[in-house]
Amino acid sequence: MSARGAIGWEGQSLLAMLERSEQLLAATGRYQGLEELTLKRSDPIRYEKLFSRLRGGLVSARETALNISASPIVKEIGELCFALYTPEGDSVALSTGIIVHVHTMSDAIKYMIRQRYEENPGIAPGDIFTNNDAMIGDVHNADVQTFVPIFWESELVGWAAGVTHEIDIGAKTPGSVPIGPISRFEDGIDLPARKIGSHDELWRDHVLAGLRGTRTPMYWTLDEKTRLAGAHMIRDAVERVIAQEGVDVYKRFIREVIEDGRRSFQARLREMTVPGRYRAPAFSEVPFAKEAQLPSYARRDTLMHAPLELRITREGMLELDYDGASAWGHHSCNCTPSAMQGAIWVQLTQLLICNDKVNDGAYLALRSNFPPGTWSNHSNPQCSTGIAWSFLIPSFTGFVKSISRALQARGFVEEVLAPYGLTANAFQGGGIDQYGRQSATTNFGLSCVGGGAKMILDGLDYAAAMWNPEGDMGDMEMWEMIEPFLYLSQRVKPNTAGPGRHRGGSGYECLRLAWSTPFYEMQNIGNGYCFIQAGLWGGYPAATGYRHNIRGSDFLDLIQARAPYPQSEPDPGASELAAGIAGRHDFDIEATTLPEVMAHGDLYLSIYRGGAGLGDPLERPYESVMADIAGGFLLERYADSIYGVVPGDPQATERRRGELREHRRAKAVPVREWMKSERERILELDMIEPVQRMYAESMRLSERFARELRAFWELPEEFEFPVATPEVELSKAMLAGNAAEGTREASP
Ligand code: MN
Repeated sequence: MSARGAIGWEGQSLLAMLERSEQLLAATGRYQGLEELTLKRSDPIRYEKLFSRLRGGLVSARETALNISASPIVKEIGELCFALYTPEGDSVALSTGIIVHVHTMSDAIKYMIRQRYEENPGIAPGDIFTNNDAMIGDVHNADVQTFVPIFWESELVGWAAGVTHEIDIGAKTPGSVPIGPISRFEDGIDLPARKIGSHDELWRDHVLAGLRGTRTPMYWTLDEKTRLAGAHMIRDAVERVIAQEGVDVYKRFIREVIEDGRRSFQARLREMTVPGRYRAPAFSEVPFAKEAQLPSYARRDTLMHAPLELRITREGMLELDYDGASAWGHHSCNCTPSAMQGAIWVQLTQLLICNDKVNDGAYLALRSNFPPGTWSNHSNPQCSTGIAWSFLIPSFTGFVKSISRALQARGFVEEVLAPYGLTANAFQGGGIDQYGRQSATTNFGLSCVGGGAKMILDGLDYAAAMWNPEGDMGDMEMWEMIEPFLYLSQRVKPNTAGPGRHRGGSGYECLRLAWSTPFYEMQNIGNGYCFIQAGLWGGYPAATGYRHNIRGSDFLDLIQARAPYPQSEPDPGASELAAGIAGRHDFDIEATTLPEVMAHGDLYLSIYRGGAGLGDPLERPYESVMADIAGGFLLERYADSIYGVVPGDPQATERRRGELREHRRAKAVPVREWMKSERERILELDMIEPVQRMYAESMRLSERFARELRAFWELPEEFEFPVATPEVELSKAMLAGNAAEGTREASP
């Protein structure tokens, strides 16, 4: 112990406080073992006022601090969040913004406590800490966190923390969600829970190291000041509250409010859902077989399997189980439990905790299983998580879908949501910008994709992102200032929304012209081969995307000649870009690629995804389909094949829909027969290698999954997919030596 003595309450160390808190939760099921919420009961108005003052302090810290940043991701889009924690690292309250991080920062604080930072490097008033390590508590390196301890006299009374998403993280490839790294050593600036300042000032060595570590040093530095200023504002707000209310009331309050959060979450879960087991598998792709620059072991096509199972117990516990997920891989799309917990958290705030009383209480009513070695918990110190979202976002569509079924079963139909859109394409790259400087960008137009359809309404068009419900696409003029690409157009993309009785929200597209850059290497990031998730109750999935980039184009010649030129691609099946512009067209479904150089005069089409639909498209009102055509949401030639609508003729539409229903009946086979033919396909291995490997990984990582798959399809006991799964074998060898941290086992 340091000379100052322990900084916890009543002379305890922080570690003792944390362990005691965990023991009390395990023994009583209640946060800190609290039985009576005496403060709340005896003076409810004071209790609410306390919460509002702390919450107000957090929101105003965010609104003020973001103006310090120059990064459009932080300043314009609001990709930051602040939160207040107990001494043990449990969140008390949070600001608006990218709230996925409230729980990741909790993990980081607990890590520092468990690693005895109290003794070395020490935790003192005025100290500053940082973290961006996903295995400690984060999603990926780009999310940089700042922590400031809050003291009252000689005791630690809490932590103020803030996070921003950096525009470039100095990874192997440019941008904030790098898709080039195949190991952790290529993920960029690495800050595994470090002390970076004292006496309220950042240490110079840390500031200088940051400037040397990223392609965008100015944004980096200002973002660091943003986080620190916000954390200090929160500390001030807490000190004011304590000065007025007394430290004992504050201490009592922060514990009661978390236990209150836990109870109200369980009450809400019991009230709004039907207990049971809900299953909704999701998929995503890493199509890297084509990438000649990768080493052989990483150069392959991978399909990811997330067989998500959600269980709601009679007691109001929520259990999330990823048993049967496929293996991590040599790419940057891997996840850690901290990221997954963060995602549960942000989804709960959107589906079940629809008020501002959001804190770690909900987390305490949750059990999760992210099996080590799987994509959801790679457990490999060398694994990259640069674009962990690439697994996380698709996989959590299963969560939304499952909760929605549970809500609908109880009759809460207005809360139901079909799966959201994948937040893609990511327009990301780096090189020499229009000012002749080295730069990098990730365009956050992707924070406004289509929302899922509802039971009573269509999904919201180009609305938000699953990770930031307050997403904002930013102004084109702002992006044009920092990216050497002009916007030729930004408009609704037809047919991106998943069809249904209620359709999903639509995506949109931007046509970008590379401008005054000698070279800028650009990626495409999104799904092109597979749907991430089906819709609800007969609703169709949202469209997959595609790539259309044109290099060496004659576009500038057309301008010179004052000739007409196409500005968008409403229908890729009759592409005006393909017909009207010469050059090398990469026009295919390779929607995820490593960076390739573009230069002045090249064109890049960025297609943002829509959300999934709900209900049978044949039940969509005629007028709604006509409005979709008129609004550019649906290509007219799909009105018939998807919706059975004959434009201009409601009577003919009814006849046509009758025919389509008849056609469906004629085509349908009993499930028993269909299963027989599918079983044959499995036995004959009638599927591409990535699909076989996906299932082989799931079976070898989970005996339960293997047993269930064999039993369901009535396969022989010894049935295996005859493909190599080197990552599974490596994981098993590694895990035999040490069990992975960060997973709280679900009950069997
Ligand atoms: Mn991020």
